[in-house]
Amino acid sequence: MKIPFNKPYLSGKELYYISTTIHNGRTAGNNDFTKKCHAFFQDKFQFNKTLFTTSCTDALEMSALLMKIQPGDEVIIPSYTFVSTANAFVLRGAKIVFADSYVNNPNIDSSGIEKLITHKTKAIVVVHYAGVACNMDEVLAIAEKYKLFIVEDAAQAIDSYYKEKPLGGIGDLGTFSFHETKNIICGEGGLLVVNEQQFTKRAEIIWEKGTNRAAFFRGEVNKYGWVDIGSSFLASEILAAFLYAQLEHMEEIQTRRKEIWQNYYDGLLPLATSEKIALPHIPEYASQNGHLFYITCNSLEERSLLIKYLRDRGIYAVFHYLSLHKSKFFENQYTGEALPNCDRFADNLLRLPLFYELTNEAQQKIIADIFDFYKDR
Ligand SMILES: *Cc1c(COP(=O)(O)O)cnc(C)c1O
Repeated sequence: MKIPFNKPYLSGKELYYISTTIHNGRTAGNNDFTKKCHAFFQDKFQFNKTLFTTSCTDALEMSALLMKIQPGDEVIIPSYTFVSTANAFVLRGAKIVFADSYVNNPNIDSSGIEKLITHKTKAIVVVHYAGVACNMDEVLAIAEKYKLFIVEDAAQAIDSYYKEKPLGGIGDLGTFSFHETKNIICGEGGLLVVNEQQFTKRAEIIWEKGTNRAAFFRGEVNKYGWVDIGSSFLASEILAAFLYAQLEHMEEIQTRRKEIWQNYYDGLLPLATSEKIALPHIPEYASQNGHLFYITCNSLEERSLLIKYLRDRGIYAVFHYLSLHKSKFFENQYTGEALPNCDRFADNLLRLPLFYELTNEAQQKIIADIFDFYKDR
């Protein structure tokens, strides 16, 4: 039995909806399916304004434009994240100030943020790793005190919550990803959530190449033209059609993924009790959305051996992220302190296969093989 790391979920209606857009002759952006997707997010999560984009990366770049990030501005970002979280602000000339993770959770350690703030700090970007919420009350209090913007990189956090609040809807701006590897997909796609009212109008303009085209089609202005900077951040209706076919099945997808997550947690608990591995820590204020399941090994060497052990048995487990402050692009620019928790997750964290169609039988085999690996350790 070969068990892949990921297998994208398909509802079965994707091609049907895509063919509808083609037959209607409406394949460019911001048409019927895009509006259906926006309405879905606004109804389900009560988001103020949402804009479907070609990726989460694009939604992050839009965030940087909306906050008018300029050369010299500083943006605080966890080092344990995907490159796009930082790149979006680097593109505007910002200085990235990297923050560490918690000891027992890859999310940004909110107690370490305040010491990173200077008079140049403009924004804090939090990443809800594995769909598990950051400590938002603490981050909000810091942002309030120093008048900073908050962006939530909620790429992994769809339908996940901080206390009762949906992630992506708490900061000034939030971003989601529908990349093939996420819970809800359309190949490549993303969403910008605009929570801060002052950004609502301008977000739509930046999204539509710096024009007021969207307002024109609503009949609010009698001609449209170039009114601001912008780019082609809106995605094709073909992608919106794909996405909508997935959104209709969100409940079912999330339920199954959370079940698989819980099976791993329960099954591997004895190894955590005996301190051979560590399991994810879900703070009381956070939910999890079955986006990914990871274990933390006791060393890089042990993790490498475990990856090989599983691969020899047909199981594909993968690691990520390399600390961004130590990346090839950034290491020469980095002037901050050591970030030991981030480095430890980079070395020791291992993601296990988690996808809708993963059978209980396959999952039991994965768990059994991990027990075998640790038998004599
Ligand atoms: C996947 C991911 C992204 C990038 O999303 P794209 O839609 O591929 O641009 C950004 N940040 C985090 C934390 C991610 O997991």
